[in-house]
Formats: sequence, C-alpha cells, structure tokens
Amino acid sequence: MRWLLLLALVVRAAPAAGTAADVARAIRENGFDRDECYRVRDITIFKDDLKIYLTDGHLIFSQPVAGHRIAAVFAADVEGGEGEVILLPPNRAERTSLASFINSPNLDEHFRVALFLFTGAEYDAIMSQLPHNAANRKDPDAAGGMVEAWTPALRGLAASFQTRVALDLLGGTAGRPGLFAALFDNARLGRFDIIYDPYSPEQIVAGQVLVRGDSTYFNTWTSFQARRSRRSPPPPAADVVLSDYRIQATLNPDLSLDCVTRVKVKPVVDGATAVTFEIAPQMAVSAATIDGRDAEVLQRDALRANIGRGGNDLFLVIPPEPLHAGREYEFELRHSGKVILDAGDRVFYVTARGNWYPGHNLQFARYDLQFRYPVDLDLVAAGDVVEDRTEGDWRITRRRTAATIRFAAFNLGNYKHARLERAGFVVDVCANRSLERALQPRPQEVVNVPVPGPSRRPTQVPMMVPPQPPPHSPIERLQDLAADVASSLEFMVSRFGPPALPHIAVSPIPGTFGQGFPGLIYLSTLAYLKDAPSSEAGPAQSAKIYLEDVLQAHEVAHQWWGNRVTASFYRDSWLMEALANTSALLYIEKRMGAHSAETMLDTYRGLLLEKAPNGQTVESAGPVVFGPRLDSSLAPTAYRTITYGKGSWIMQMLRRRMGDQRFLSLLAEAIRRYDHRDISTEEFRQLAAEFMPPRSEDPRLETFFEQWVYGTGIPNLKLAWSVKGQAPALRLTGTVTQSEVDENFNALVPVEIQIARGQTVTEWVRTGGEPAHFTVSLKQPPVKVSLDPHYAVLRRL
Ligand SMILES: [Zn+2]
Repeated sequence: MRWLLLLALVVRAAPAAGTAADVARAIRENGFDRDECYRVRDITIFKDDLKIYLTDGHLIFSQPVAGHRIAAVFAADVEGGEGEVILLPPNRAERTSLASFINSPNLDEHFRVALFLFTGAEYDAIMSQLPHNAANRKDPDAAGGMVEAWTPALRGLAASFQTRVALDLLGGTAGRPGLFAALFDNARLGRFDIIYDPYSPEQIVAGQVLVRGDSTYFNTWTSFQARRSRRSPPPPAADVVLSDYRIQATLNPDLSLDCVTRVKVKPVVDGATAVTFEIAPQMAVSAATIDGRDAEVLQRDALRANIGRGGNDLFLVIPPEPLHAGREYEFELRHSGKVILDAGDRVFYVTARGNWYPGHNLQFARYDLQFRYPVDLDLVAAGDVVEDRTEGDWRITRRRTAATIRFAAFNLGNYKHARLERAGFVVDVCANRSLERALQPRPQEVVNVPVPGPSRRPTQVPMMVPPQPPPHSPIERLQDLAADVASSLEFMVSRFGPPALPHIAVSPIPGTFGQGFPGLIYLSTLAYLKDAPSSEAGPAQSAKIYLEDVLQAHEVAHQWWGNRVTASFYRDSWLMEALANTSALLYIEKRMGAHSAETMLDTYRGLLLEKAPNGQTVESAGPVVFGPRLDSSLAPTAYRTITYGKGSWIMQMLRRRMGDQRFLSLLAEAIRRYDHRDISTEEFRQLAAEFMPPRSEDPRLETFFEQWVYGTGIPNLKLAWSVKGQAPALRLTGTVTQSEVDENFNALVPVEIQIARGQTVTEWVRTGGEPAHFTVSLKQPPVKVSLDPHYAVLRRL
C-alpha cells in the first residue's frame, strides 16, 4: 500500500459503468480467462526504465473488470522457456542500494513465472505483438494449470491494490499510463516485486517482502523517477486543497470513537470523479455527503491490510457528479473505530500511527474539534478550549486552533496537570495518576512501510534503554518535567520565534518514544519517572540524558521542525528529525554544558558503527535521505540510528563549519523562509550555503552533502606532523590519512595548532584516497597539534 499514498489522487474522465463497490468487488474476485490463454514468444513489456521480455512460454489474461483486462500471468512452462526482466537504476546511490540486496548494481534476472497487474494499455500492447511471431497462438489447453496455480496470487495482489486499481478504472486511464505491478519468481531471489506507478513521485520501485523470524519486512531495493519524469518537471503536488476541519467526536465508554468530520474541499483539477483520503485501518468510513448529497465511499477491507499495517489506508469518495476546479465543496464523512488503546490501570493512549480522521496529504488547515467523552476522563487536544461543560455522564469540550496546523492529535487519561506560562505561551503537562501495567518497551514496529508521502513517524529512543519498571509514580516528577518543558520551549522561542500553536499540552504514552504534534506532545512515560541517580558513564548515562532531557526538548522542537516548517517527501523527512534533535542538543548544551551534548554524539557514533545483521556497520545501510527505506531485513534499526544519529552529526558538522552564530542564524532563517511550507534537502543545502563564512572551501556545500547526506561512510583519520626550521621561520608539515572508507571518500577535517598564550590556528585539511599533506608557517613552536578536537567530523575513534 505504500505506493498508494502519494498519488496525484484525482482521476478525471468519464466514469465507468457500475458503482465503485461493484468495481472493487470485481477486482477482488477477478479470475483468469481460459479463452485468453496464449502460447507466446518474444513479447516485450517496456515501462520506461523497466524492460520485461517474455521470451518463450504461456500467457493468460484475467477476466475484464469494467471493460479492462487488468492482469496476466506468464509461465515459462515450455521446453527452453524463459522470461527476463531488466531494471537499471539511474544513479550510484540506487545502484549501491540494489547491490546491497541482490549483489548486483543492476537487476537482470531470468524468471520462470511472473504475475502482472495493470490499469494501462498493456493488454492491447501485448495483443498487437502477437502477429509478429508465427509461434504465437491461442492455446486454451495450457490454461488449466496456470489458472489453478495463480488465482490465489492474483487475488492477493489485486486486493493489495484494490483501491488504487478502482481509482484508475473509475476514472478511466485514457491517454495516461496506468499502474503496473509485477510479481516475479526465480530461483536466485525468490519472489520479488517491481511497481511502476505514474502517479508516484518515484514511479519505479523494486523490492521484496521478507519474513525474518517474527518480523515481516518490505525491503526496498531501489526507488527512483522513471526516465520520462527525470526529463520533465514533476506533477503539481496537491490535487485538492482542504481547509476548515470541523470534527465532532464521541468517545464511548468502550473507547471506540464515533465521528462526524466536515471539511472544505477545493479541487485543483476539473472533472474529478473520485477524491482520495487516508485514514487508519481501524477507522471504518460509513457514509459521506458532498454539499448535502450522498456520495459513495470505497474503503478497502481493513483485514486485507498487510504491508500497510499500522499506517494509513486509502479510501475513495465518489461524488454524485464530477467536481469542478476552484469550487469549494463541503464534505461530510462519518467514521467510527477504535484507535485508543488501553495500557491497563486506566492508562490510555491513541495509537501513534495512522489518522483518526480523514486526511489528504497532511495539509495545513484550521480545526474546530468537539469531543464528547466520559466525565471521569480527561482529554487533551490541539487548540484553545472555547467550550467545556458536563451533561450527565458526559463531558463536552470544544477547541479551536489559533493557526493552521497539519494534524490534530488528542490523548486521554486520568491526568494530574501542571500548567506553566513562559514567554507568553502555555505549557500544560499531564501525568497519569497510575503507571501502566507493563512498563516495557512496546514491540518495535517492524513492518517497514516506506511511505513516500508525509511522514508522521514517532521519535524512537535510538538506543537500548534498560527500562526497569521503577517503583515510582508518574506524578512524582510532574512539576520538574513541566519546568523542563517550559524551559526548552523558552529556549526555542528565543531562537525560532513562536511555536506552531500558543498552547502546548504534554501527555504520556507507554513505550519508549515520543511524538510532537502541533500543540500536543506525546512523551514516553519513562520521561516522567525519577531515575535512580547513575554515576555510570556510557550507554546508561546517555539513556538518562536522553529520556530526561533530550526527548522532551526534541518533541518541543517539533513544534517548529515538522509543524511550522515541513518536509513531505520521504527523502527529506530526515531534516525534520535532524533539526529537532539538533535543537534539543543545543538546548541541553546550554543547560547542562557541552559535555552532555557530546555524550549524545558519542552514543550516536557508537550506534552508527555497530554491526547490523549483515555484518556491515548500521551506517552503511544507506544515506540518510533514504528515510524509512533504511529499515530492512539487513539492518532492522537503521532508520532511527541513521536519521537521528547521523542526522544530528550532519548538523553538528555544519555547525562547526560555519560557527555557532551563523548556524543559529541558519536555523532561524529556515523557520522564517519556509514557514508553513515544505523544505527539501536541496533547498536546505542552498540555504545553509548562504550562511557559510566568506572564502570557505566548498562554499555551496555540494561536496559536503554529496559525502555526508547523499553518501555513506565513517572514516578513521590519523594525523602525523613535524616542525622544521628556526623560529620565527618555522614550517609545520603534516599528513592526514583516512581509512575504512572507499577511496572516493573525502572529508574536510580541522587540525588545531595551539601556539603559546592560548592562541590557536586551525588548518582545514581535505582528506582523500591518498594521504593529504599540509604545511603551516609558524613564528614559534606549537604547544599542541590535534586533529578535530571539537566534534567537527563524524569519524571512528
Ligand atoms: Zn522526532
């Protein structure tokens, strides 16, 4: 389902016959057509960079759905039969990624069987090739075995893509290429997928579902823009603009939610026959109206969710007649389900993954939220309270947001509050009166869903914290925690300006992670607990710093990074995490001294250099811009280690390159210039370049980004030096040698030369495959010469 989330989600053209539900059922229940079975030779299917050769075998098509044949199976079930698929990634990073999974930078595989699902003109394209070879003919006798063997796989694949296929079929795909999904099977690699989706910003994805122990992974081998799109500009980002959410939610005593969501929808394109929304699979959408008229809803069966588990599902709203561009429509959607989980002892929380209400690509909108909930519970949400009353056993609270936000979160419990006001902003920290039953880390979300769209992944503690269930109460540290949150808020306000919303509630959730929604922060219960004082250095100390200080400051920083400035594309989402974590490290440095931030950087370094199950360092799993793709069966924890760890180091290295003042100005300017907008990695590079000191080497930071952001590698660096001549005409010559990286790796490393009376000279040396030599003229002998004494380069120690 990961491919479905970033589609340009409105389909134009005439609707096909039948309701959406009929079409969806026909897709799910589709079977093969014995009258459409062929003996084939030398058939090709080309989709930009993807080339498939059906060299010799049998091909059978599916039954038509809404007039389209949407699937076929090829089997090389004849003497000498075979098929071949070729996919050549267009750049080094993608070739490296592919090679890490299949031991080859290019995909060129022979196969015995392949299943294709498509909504484009593949059927006609194949049929038009049949006359080209005399061996091609109808062969219904071969159908039997293929139908039997492949009907379950066809239905499985069709169900996975049901909403997406229905979307194409309902709108028709005339004049534009449709979805093409292929499932191959060969002896070397087993089953693997290649998807071509013209609506996705990276149209081509190849990968594989793998089960390792109890965990299921989707390994993204490679993902890139198809050749056609590499030449032409990407399609516009939004197809409908959402504004003015009004949600009325009833929270029942059994913790289920019944909601009526109203939202204004303005189409950007004309003639839309379907509008897509995303919602958590636990939420069932039962009805929709558009301007008061009934609209059909097509939501896929939640039980079918496999790869997309835990994230959002796509559903369609089909208007009674096509929508007009520029007109504003009032959508009303009714939905219910259970997104609230019970951790025991009256500790509740809202599942952090998936939308509890219908969304469309996390757009900025104003919210008016009314919650009706049992009077003995407390509920916190984004926005300012405008109404709060009780009616019998019910409490009714209504909130409005003072600004547009991208997501409205809530949480509930039996809370004790600590409220503080700082710099004109209110912090309301809520603690559960009791501790959840099992204070253990929740099982990690292991199913990797490389969502190319807006990411709302929680912040996870990037280390193994030993969470011994402490005998403390979560309210013991409430006042201290509230003071800490207020203090980090004050720090950030002084540097970045106002947060996303003027009122910030902090609420506990079980587990070891946090999440920073606009106006509402989820914080691990562990952050609420008094830890036994630890004199131990190392992981225990950094875990303590992390849970007590960094985590809350990181989530506070998300009020800016991710909620004022945003990143929608999966390749840019690392920026929000790196900037939030860097802001947190700046805060703890100010509060507790440089040593605490350095302890965290040391911890990150150690985690990056740990060995993944494939024997390589975790850092080598891929560049930070791979985002959620980094989690794979090869390195199951790579995403968080690289995003937070290497992301923080990248910012630290930039800070050392430009100096503290310039770096802080860069952060403030990023907020100012990209307020309520997306920033891409390249835009951030260009912005950072504006803050480089005059006459810097690599002034546009292209080499820096190439190496550290788009590349991998952590070098081991060695310095050798000597001084020749007589004062005051001394020459210090030195050599910096790098190892444990490939020969193309290079880094700019400071060598600090300390002269008498505390004077220092810093020489920046560019390392490379060969030892790098440098010479510095000195008037007096150096007291001390050191390589990178202040955490300016991520390197092995
Ligand atoms: Zn975060």
